[in-house]
Amino acid sequence: MFHGARHGWIEVVAGVMFSGKSEELIRRVRRALIAGRRVQLFKSHLDDRYGGQFRISSHDGREIDAEPVSSSVQVAGKVRPSTQVVAVDEAQFLDDGICVVVDALADAGVRVIVAGTDMDFRGEPFGPMGLLLARAERIDKLTAICVVCGDPATRNQRLIDGKPAPAEGPTIQVGGSESYEARCRRCHDVPQRDRAQRELLPTDGTEEWKGI
Ligand code: ADP
Ligand code: ZN
Repeated sequence: MFHGARHGWIEVVAGVMFSGKSEELIRRVRRALIAGRRVQLFKSHLDDRYGGQFRISSHDGREIDAEPVSSSVQVAGKVRPSTQVVAVDEAQFLDDGICVVVDALADAGVRVIVAGTDMDFRGEPFGPMGLLLARAERIDKLTAICVVCGDPATRNQRLIDGKPAPAEGPTIQVGGSESYEARCRRCHDVPQRDRAQRELLPTDGTEEWKGI
């Protein structure tokens, strides 16, 4: 299905929302275009910033559009045999099959650049991101700025009507009224998660987990 140069690999740009993952993905794609590589860019169409679409142009006038996708099968079906670089933005919204697809592409010599939010609003691995991070040759984890205290932010805070959203909600809210903030570990607030986590803590019956 795919063929390309001899050396392919997977690089993942991970991090919280607002950490600059899309900016970094665009920078890498623009440089690949400058290098004359044949690039294809995909973006989960669950994310509708930039009107659901965006276009990357390099200063030498070359430009490519992001192709909207909603599944790993669609990515596999759209990659052209001559493509040398495949970039996927918002990969957290795709299914686990994306791991098989990007592995196959890298095996076939394609450079694969994947960007995605690595944690959901509870602080758990988001969609296929944990599996992608395990497979990657290169990982860059970016941070944003915590809107509460100004420290580096690593967590996505979901708010409903301005209040921290409980852990029970769905991971992906479609058409909800919620909003998100970048926050650090200390300022991240997920009501009801702490109780559930305490039940999962390993114990030999004697150990005290103080302060948790
Ligand atoms: P991502 O793809 O990781 O969500 P983007 O590349 O779309 O991030 O956006 C990053 C930009 O978001 C930053 O350059 C900055 O201008 C803006 N921004 C908004 N809120 C924050 C924040 N809390 N911390 C850092 N950058 C922020
Ligand atoms: Zn903070």
